[in-house]
Amino acid sequence: MLIIGSHVSFNKNNQLLGSLEESLKYKANTFMFYTGAPQNTKRYEIDQNITKQAILKMQEKNININNIIVHAPYIINLANNKESDKYDFSIRFLKDEIKRCEELKIKYLVLHPGSHVGLGIDVGIENIIFALNMVLEYDQNVTILLETMSGKGTEVGSNFQEIKKIIDGISKKELIGVCIDTCHLNDSGYDLNNFDTILKEFDQVIGLSYLKCVHVNDSKNIMGARKDRHENIGYGTIGFNNLLKVLYHDKLDNIPKILETPYINEKAPYKEEIEMISKKVFNPNLKDL
Ligand SMILES: [Zn+2]
Repeated sequence: MLIIGSHVSFNKNNQLLGSLEESLKYKANTFMFYTGAPQNTKRYEIDQNITKQAILKMQEKNININNIIVHAPYIINLANNKESDKYDFSIRFLKDEIKRCEELKIKYLVLHPGSHVGLGIDVGIENIIFALNMVLEYDQNVTILLETMSGKGTEVGSNFQEIKKIIDGISKKELIGVCIDTCHLNDSGYDLNNFDTILKEFDQVIGLSYLKCVHVNDSKNIMGARKDRHENIGYGTIGFNNLLKVLYHDKLDNIPKILETPYINEKAPYKEEIEMISKKVFNPNLKDL
């Protein structure tokens, strides 16, 4: 079954229920949200009453809460320990974020591995491993999904080998998974014209059982550009048919697919994008939204 949704908002007053209601407007059967603004670390207390209401409504709408994803804020950087206060803050904030996910009954937390900012890939990987082992020591329910990155700047995790090195260093491997992002794959040099080859390599290097989420985005840039600029489905360099192959791949059945495509004229395009994905027919008028 196609599990498809998009990034949605999460606000102080309506919390998980508000996010769910937004996703239902898009005819989605899952969704992803940040527990606050992605760029900052201001976070609200989780209201258990609202969470309960949201869970009841999910049952009513046949939405499996295990498919819902939280994305950690970009501010967390586990790869760079040059400034120890910032590194410690990232570790502490990630622990709090896991706690928030547990309160919200969310199973998967997507995390950008981080940027080494001049320390080099190997030191960056060591820092990520150290931090994750600290964090996972106290956690039993939430699985952290390392996202594959585009390789812009000094990002760690722009190929499967780097992600595998991180996983190798984690003691509680059952609490680690991977999220691939089609735009990041393209921008880091993977050819989405041959998704089967990409998946085969993923299986050989990391193991397909680690793959728990797919971010489905088109890209504004050519393959290997190391840029990370998302484009609407079918409007970028990856193209509609290549993205359909990812969305409907039999090996990725039942894995949540999340759209993080840009707004069009300040409007969310997700209802229209989910519609064209469900119908498997490209909508040439999407940008007139
Ligand atoms: Zn991400």
